[in-house]
Amino acid sequence: MALQPGSSLKEAFPVFAHHRELVFLDNAASCQKPVVVLEAMDKLYRTSYANVHRGVYQISEAATAQFEGARQDVARFINAASAEEVIFTRNATAALNVAAASLALGLKAGDEVLLTHLEHHANLVPWQEAAKRHQLVLKFIPVTEEGRLDLSSIDELINSRTKVLAITATSNVTGTVTELDKLIPKAKAVGATVVVDAAQAAQHLPLDVQALGCDLLAFSGHKVFGPSGIGVLWGRMELLSSLPPFEFGGNMIQEVSYESASFAPPPARFEAGTPPIAEAVGLGAAVKFIQQIGWGAICDYEEGLTRYALEKLVAVPGLRLIGPSTPEARAPVFSFVLEGVHPHDVASILDGVGVAVRAGHHCAMPLHKRFGLPATTRASFTIYNTEEDVNALVSGLAKARQMLAL
Ligand code: PMP
Repeated sequence: MALQPGSSLKEAFPVFAHHRELVFLDNAASCQKPVVVLEAMDKLYRTSYANVHRGVYQISEAATAQFEGARQDVARFINAASAEEVIFTRNATAALNVAAASLALGLKAGDEVLLTHLEHHANLVPWQEAAKRHQLVLKFIPVTEEGRLDLSSIDELINSRTKVLAITATSNVTGTVTELDKLIPKAKAVGATVVVDAAQAAQHLPLDVQALGCDLLAFSGHKVFGPSGIGVLWGRMELLSSLPPFEFGGNMIQEVSYESASFAPPPARFEAGTPPIAEAVGLGAAVKFIQQIGWGAICDYEEGLTRYALEKLVAVPGLRLIGPSTPEARAPVFSFVLEGVHPHDVASILDGVGVAVRAGHHCAMPLHKRFGLPATTRASFTIYNTEEDVNALVSGLAKARQMLAL
């Protein structure tokens, strides 16, 4: 059966057979897992599990082939020039920490790092720490009232002191898809290194690292229908080869004496210790699953769903949406407050009617402060969600207002 986005896709996800009434709208935090991912991991553990790379026996070689095969699947998923440019990490956060700490070693006091006000803590706090250690100056692209990047001062913000642009591709709060096509060439023109946080984008948009022209890009397995415990740091080989390792130990060395060590080329240099083996195999199956559905179908479907959800949500009395109210350059991630009802109470009432959403600051505290709010409720949709799921959300919101609004 051809896979296509929408309600029929729920059949590919065992959780929806287990919870028939579940309306799962927390996909920005983590996605459910299709059976192909579960089976790929199960099969590895049942038939050919062993530690990778150093075994000279058959099942270690089989495990290594599957692990390295997954690296190739991921390389194809993001159009990397080679599989060696794909580093497996623990999650996007770990990948972004490597990026900030390693790049900062090559920077000097007064150098500027340009971020945006949309950033998740994972692409903000590592730079704050790097700035403290290396006396860097953090600058920010502000956001408009609508939650889009305000590029009116971009030619001052990107200047000869800008050494790094570290930017989210899609906000996990507002759903904003940032203008990487405009910003990356500007940053490259002043010689800056560009880091893209694609943790949220990877589930909604095709990523082509060569077309983007960035230098490093990070995302997590669990947000692209793969397992948790694995993430990806992609880097241009020329840059990766010049970056020092971040963690040290087995698997990442070339030659070791009691006094010193030399290091393996990428990706091994950045993969100290036993890697997430079954998780890599699961991630490989997940990205192939996405490609089987096809980006054309995914983007068309999600655009329609975004349009429908926006129409319904903006019509809810007392609802303030934090983020663009038009579907262009926007992912189906909707953070909002409901007048007179605490965001956590909204989430609890929705849970009572079988709608799973998240409430809080979504690891973007400064962005919430920018909008004068301590917290929002967030409903985030993906390929298995439907217009009926939007309707369930909206009727749950009506119930919340009825029960709790002043
Ligand atoms: N960046 C963005 C935009 C995110 O949405 C997230 C996850 N919420 C992260 C980074 C961090 O991802 P992880 O928790 O998987 O490391």
